[in-house]
Order: sequence, then C-alpha cells, then structure tokens
Amino acid sequence: MSIQVENISKSFGTFAALYGVSLDFPTGELVALLGPSGCGKTTLLRVIAGLETADAGRVILDGEDASDTHVRERQVGFVFQHYALFRHLTVFENVAFGLRVRPRRNRPSADEISRRVHRLLDLVQMDPLADRFPPQLSGGQRQRIALARALAVEPRVLLLDEPFGALDAQVRKELRRWLRRLHDELHVTSLFVTHDQEEALEVADRVVLMNRGQVEQVGTPAQIYEHPATPFVYGFLGAVNCFRGRVEGAHVRVGEARLPHDGQVDIQGAAVVGFARPHDLQVVTDLAAANGVDAIVSRVHAFGASVRVELDSLEGAADRGEPAHYEVVMPRERAVSLTEGQRVKLVPAQLRVFADQAA
Ligand code: ATP
Repeated sequence: MSIQVENISKSFGTFAALYGVSLDFPTGELVALLGPSGCGKTTLLRVIAGLETADAGRVILDGEDASDTHVRERQVGFVFQHYALFRHLTVFENVAFGLRVRPRRNRPSADEISRRVHRLLDLVQMDPLADRFPPQLSGGQRQRIALARALAVEPRVLLLDEPFGALDAQVRKELRRWLRRLHDELHVTSLFVTHDQEEALEVADRVVLMNRGQVEQVGTPAQIYEHPATPFVYGFLGAVNCFRGRVEGAHVRVGEARLPHDGQVDIQGAAVVGFARPHDLQVVTDLAAANGVDAIVSRVHAFGASVRVELDSLEGAADRGEPAHYEVVMPRERAVSLTEGQRVKLVPAQLRVFADQAA
C-alpha cells in the first residue's frame, strides 16, 4: 500500500508538533522516520495510523483519502517499543489473537489459523518456543513475537515505533538486520520511528529526517549522509567538524587559514559555516608547510584499524568563532607520529558550506 501525507499539521494546545508535513511513501518501501526526541516522529506515525487526527492536511492510502477512515479499517499493523504481549497467553495464542477475534464471517478456520501462525513463527524463528509464555522470553524474542502478531492479520502497512528501543545494543543490532531481511521477504510498506541514526541508515530504503515538526530532508541513506541538505542534517548524522568564516573566492577564511569550499555559497564576504567529516580532515605536523587551522592534539584513541584523534583549538582561536573541539579519523600508520599536546594544522579536503544563520 502506498501512503501519502499532504500538508499535515497537528498541535497540542499551543504547541505545534507537526507543521506542513508532506511525504510520499511508495508501496513496499521500508522507511525510517528519524530525528531528535520530540521532533514529531511518533505523532506523524499515529496520524498515519488513524490513532491521532490531524488539524489540517490529508492522509492518502493507496490513492484514496483516508483522513476520516477509522483505525480499524486502515489495515495497519503496529509494533511499539514495549511489546505489550498478553502475559497469560502462549506465544502461539498471542500471534493468533488478531485472527481469533475477527467476526465469524471473516475468521479463518482453526486449521488455517494454526497454519498461518506456525508459518509466521517460523519466519521470526520462534516456532520452537510456541508454547512458552511472554515472561519466559528475552526482550528480543518478545519483540519478534510482537512483530509476528502484527503481521498475522496481513496488514497493508506496518508501523513500528522505536521497535528496538528497549533492547541492549547487541540485540538491537541483530534485530535490525533481521527486520531488513524480513522486509525483503514480505515487502509490506513499513515505516519505523527511530532516533538512532545508525539504525536508520543501516536498515531503511529511505530516511525521512525530521526536526521541530518539519521535514529537513528525505533521501536514501547514501544521499542524506553524503549530501546533507541543511546544517541540521549534517550535525545529526554522525560526527562532524565545523568551521565558521567568510567566503574569499574559492576559499573560506577561518582566522589566518584559507580553506577550500564546495561553492554552495559563492557570495564574496558571506558569513558561512563549513563542515567536514572526521575522515575528511588531514592532520599536518609541519606547521610551516600547511595552510590550515591551528590545533593541538588532546587525545589519540589508538585501537582498531583506524585511529581517532581529538583536537582542541589553540588558545584564543575559539574567540574567532571556531569550535573548541575537533575529531579526525585516520589510518593507524598516519597517526604514529602524533602525541598528545602536539601542535598541528588541520587541513580539510573541502568544506561543505552553508550560510551562517548565527552570524
Ligand atoms: P521521541 O523520540 O522522544 O518519542 P518524537 O519525535 O516521537 O519524540 P512526538 O512523540 O511525536 O515526538 O512528540 C512531538 C511533540 O509533541 C513533543 O514535544 C511532545 O511533548 C508533544 N506531544 C505529543 N503528544 C502529546 C499529547 N498527547 N499532548 C501534548 N503534547 C504532546
């Protein structure tokens, strides 16, 4: 089922939780709604589900306006952070529940229910535990049962709200890979809410990045990571270094340094903020040779194949509006000569620049 939301706004009292949100989700996609706490992800999911009514705008399911369709008729499956399984029912009965409570005329036969439930339990690799009760399961197992239960009624769309939020990091990672595989098998249009950028980038076909009730950017994980549309997106998706300065031709003047920029703001003298990811910065120890920003090595984290180096601005540099702290990632062999307290120059390959709203 395809989903479109058109110009959705929703306020709670005077607080605008969603403001003019328009999105298009094609059939069969797995989409992540990503953003910081309170940005409106859950509210948007609830509006699509029909659990919340928007103040303005429309929800269109498979080309038909569903704004006034009751949640029961929207054929959505839900999985929430807290699995909310029935404690007194077995795993099998939890998954069968949605089919058993159907009106008699739509209810499958007992044999058919059994067949379907076992197929789903197989799919989520839980069939051997069909006779257990929820308290006898781990968190990850319960969440897989919650997913099987949501799928049992053959929803046309699956909505997942922080489905792995309550689980520890290791189980979370396993389950998200598993969710991806499951989706590739079933192709049910699925939206999942997360505030974890790694989870969104790893699992989703497309990511909707939200901030303060609005959409900042929509794209494939590669698009939004490689080409962030706004400073907010840049900052939200992983570690980043930022440099404030003014445009001088093909460069940005940051203190004494002239750093190449990507030409996105080419107004002479414009105040800009330039971004570089940790692997896009070089640390140069020959101070005379390099045109870069002065910094001092504060910490070298030398484990694994690549080394992460933390650096601070030299005293006074922060007064010029530069960040006090930087982070660089480099291959181990390039980091051997670096020592804590050493003065260096930071040289970005190229800064991605945006107009500096704060200037
Ligand atoms: P989180 O990641 O923390 O769950 P979220 O992005 O899912 O955040 P929402 O739950 O959609 O955010 O909430 C958006 C904003 O609307 C928040 O500031 C929240 O406090 C507010 N809000 C949500 N539901 C209600 C409600 N029923 N009454 C009042 N305010 C609400």
